[in-house]
Amino acid sequence: MNLAQKDLQHIWHPCSQMKDYEDLPPIIIDHAKGLYLYDVHGKRYADVVSSWWCNLLGHCNERINNAVKNQIDKLEHVIFANFSHTPAIDLCDRLSQILPAGLTKFLFTDNGSSAIEAAMKMSFQYHYQTGNPQKTRFIALSDAYHGETVGALSVGGVDLYSRIYKPMLLDIIRVNGPDCYRCRYGQHRDSCQAPCFAAAEQAFANYADTVCAFIAEPLVQGAAGMKIYPPIYLKKLRQACDQYKVHLIVDEIATGFGRTGKMFACDHANISPDIICLSKGLTGGYLPMALAVTTQTVYDAFYADYSEGKAFMHSHTYSGNPLACSAANEVLAIMQEECILENSNKNANYFRQLISDNLINHKHVGETRSIGLINAIELVADKSSKQPFDPKQRIGYQIYKKALAKGVVLRPLGDVLYFNPPLTINREEMDFVIQVCKECIGNVL
Ligand SMILES: *Cc1c(COP(=O)(O)O)cnc(C)c1O
Repeated sequence: MNLAQKDLQHIWHPCSQMKDYEDLPPIIIDHAKGLYLYDVHGKRYADVVSSWWCNLLGHCNERINNAVKNQIDKLEHVIFANFSHTPAIDLCDRLSQILPAGLTKFLFTDNGSSAIEAAMKMSFQYHYQTGNPQKTRFIALSDAYHGETVGALSVGGVDLYSRIYKPMLLDIIRVNGPDCYRCRYGQHRDSCQAPCFAAAEQAFANYADTVCAFIAEPLVQGAAGMKIYPPIYLKKLRQACDQYKVHLIVDEIATGFGRTGKMFACDHANISPDIICLSKGLTGGYLPMALAVTTQTVYDAFYADYSEGKAFMHSHTYSGNPLACSAANEVLAIMQEECILENSNKNANYFRQLISDNLINHKHVGETRSIGLINAIELVADKSSKQPFDPKQRIGYQIYKKALAKGVVLRPLGDVLYFNPPLTINREEMDFVIQVCKECIGNVL
């Protein structure tokens, strides 16, 4: 039995119809360096999806490797209630200097979904303890994605992931969010004043009395197909949250750490949320760790004598794992010392141009859109009507398989192909992956 067969004998892979693996067996990766993964047969794959958007500075970065190696010989893990350690303290100190203003209290969890759950409970309990126990509900955007655990899935709005579980999920107030490619107001994201915010405004007016928080992915709705919307929407959202005394929970799990060209997507709108959720790029994609970071105001509502029962009784076994913290500290040091953002922004202009030069004229490319190094290519059956393909055709999946054969991990979201590469990708690598992408679109369409 070969390795792939043995894998399929044992392993249930995430987010997969396992029957598809009959046709496309798992690719067994042996090692990786920079942009590239190498399988056990020596075949190379360009990881332009950053291994599910988490690899930030390339695989097996020497500095991060050494930081983790050094830490592992000192302290691998310790209970984080009553105990602490330098890597966690240093990390919060560093992050508090770069996060949007006012985010100063750090709660550790161990993956993105659990940070969302913590943020939701934190907001709920804040209102409970500050005289507004009727504020129990959440508002979220259409097409939102916040993770897969039951609370996080509830605020998510992508049917593909949540439809079957609806009877298990919380009752969320859903707002029609921005949909810039198919704008209902006939406007363009680069110049509009977000008239689509009216739907959110209406939800605040109708429900704010019973709402503790509005949760949103800032500027990029990743799982929805890298849908990109303008900062003005976020500004309006911040104002409305203030006006209606509703917390703004911002999910920067995918957008944080330079993915959008600024350290955080919120920085494009100059706003601060009441709670920010971070994960993925936080550790450079090395180890599972996440944070829900909040304000002194929220924190203070939990601070009381023990007997008042106001503590946040929330924990995860691996909270504040020192190995993950050591990776995260090194990521921030590298970003600063090696001018990662400045360089990636220069390359981002090149990448954007390359993609539009090579792909925009194809008869099935409806839109190319980008922010930072994130670039999406939305394929449509008909360009003028923006009519999507029948999902049963699995156009994106067919292109994915072709690109894999040519050594590029062009994993689509439906019929949206996208690049969300490590910030360290160079121009030669960009040329290669776009050439392959163009060929594969041509092969299939
Ligand atoms: C990945 C992701 C999550 C969930 O994180 P997990 O670590 O997979 O649980 C939540 N929100 C956004 C925006 C994400 O991209």
